[in-house]
Amino acid sequence: MEDAHRTWAEPWKIKMVEPIRMTTREEREAAIEAAGYNTFLLEADDVYIDLLTDSGTSAMSDRQWSALMLGDEAYAGSKSFYKLVDAVREVYGYEELVPTHQGRGAEHILSQILIKEGDVVPGNMYFTTTRFHQERAGGKFVDVIVDEAHDPHSLAAFKGNIDMAKLRAVVDEYGADRVPYVSFETNVNMAGGQPVSMANLREVYEYCHPLGILVMLDATRAAENAWFIKQREYGYHDQPISQILREMTSWSDGATVSSKKDNLVNIGGFLALRDPELARQARSMLVAFEGLHTYGGMSGRDMEALAAGIHEMVDTDDHIRARVGQVEYLGDKLIKAGIPVIRPIGGHGVFLDAGTILEHVPQEQFPAQALAAAIYVDSGVRGMERGIVSAGRDPQTGKNRHPALELVRLTIPRRVYTQSHMDVTAESVIKVWEHRDSIRGLRFTYEPESLRFFQARFEPVD
Ligand SMILES: *Cc1c(COP(=O)(O)O)cnc(C)c1O
Repeated sequence: MEDAHRTWAEPWKIKMVEPIRMTTREEREAAIEAAGYNTFLLEADDVYIDLLTDSGTSAMSDRQWSALMLGDEAYAGSKSFYKLVDAVREVYGYEELVPTHQGRGAEHILSQILIKEGDVVPGNMYFTTTRFHQERAGGKFVDVIVDEAHDPHSLAAFKGNIDMAKLRAVVDEYGADRVPYVSFETNVNMAGGQPVSMANLREVYEYCHPLGILVMLDATRAAENAWFIKQREYGYHDQPISQILREMTSWSDGATVSSKKDNLVNIGGFLALRDPELARQARSMLVAFEGLHTYGGMSGRDMEALAAGIHEMVDTDDHIRARVGQVEYLGDKLIKAGIPVIRPIGGHGVFLDAGTILEHVPQEQFPAQALAAAIYVDSGVRGMERGIVSAGRDPQTGKNRHPALELVRLTIPRRVYTQSHMDVTAESVIKVWEHRDSIRGLRFTYEPESLRFFQARFEPVD
């Protein structure tokens, strides 16, 4: 970075545009009712600015689009696969690559090869699909994230860190042989995109390794995490993101990655490992669930674009600075307007503290779900719920889990929107905040058995 006080701009210019449609308030009221007040069930054509997720919504570069033409669609041994292997080795430093159709495919395979019935998997907060696969494999997930992660007012620099005392307590209680691995997420999504520090990565690995407990990163957002290490951790300010990322992964035995995030592609993912024997076991499951070990659910052209995306993610630091910078731009606008948001602003989105904004709506009436619907009706900006609906029910007791954080996530796709779209979004959130007392809670009209937030339907409580 040249001079921290000068304005930065996106390190790209626009070569192709995709028109988006403004709707009327009446149209949006009808659309959200038809969608059962669940923003996941809206038709994208009815959305003006789509901040539902940054998953698979990135804009690819001209280099990636041209890479698609080089895709080798050989069923076995595709050239594109070997390019992907090289990219993962160079950028992440893992020798063994097991390609999957997306992140959850990798989580499924990893959980099945490592977890036995009755095992315990400690992790920093949880991610929906990750925990689902760990529980489905017979494991019990235990949250060992630092307390600050659950406090929307804490300004701690590394709110994604693992609390070593909590991790030790889990290992002491169950014994190391019942803990196959630590599920260590970088830039913790559900905590608001909050990073882990290099010191914490090292400490966890140095504790686990002698005990025979593996450390498996969810490295889906590791490059964004590296940016925060560069900004906030002593000794890293002058290191390039690529170098910081390599040090981060050096404190692990493998990783699952959803390539739909940091890696700048619309579909894809992988499991990366160091141990060839574990990789062999993973590949033998892969052929049953994903595809042959040299494509695992991706087409040749997908792998080609992914290899290019992995390089672009770290080729210069300008990309990641602009990516995180745009999120901070939106966040700072809301903070200035006095809107309660999770701070510090995280890497991939701004998280509105719906529990505080809609104080008058009890958590059992889904305040974050109601707030996301209200913002959509105001402006056509689509965010999503991250609170009690996403947390689901405890599989043992069948009762709702009550997460401390009840959030609406406004997630920024990479290289897609300009600062003007952020201005429109901020204006809408401020408008809804001013009229927050008129927003009512919701109740289920349909509740799916698992990962209910995707397809649940609601109606307003009178
Ligand atoms: C998106 C995501 C996943 C799941 O990946 P998919 O590609 O959606 O299956 C796992 N972990 C984190 C941190 C994610 O953000």
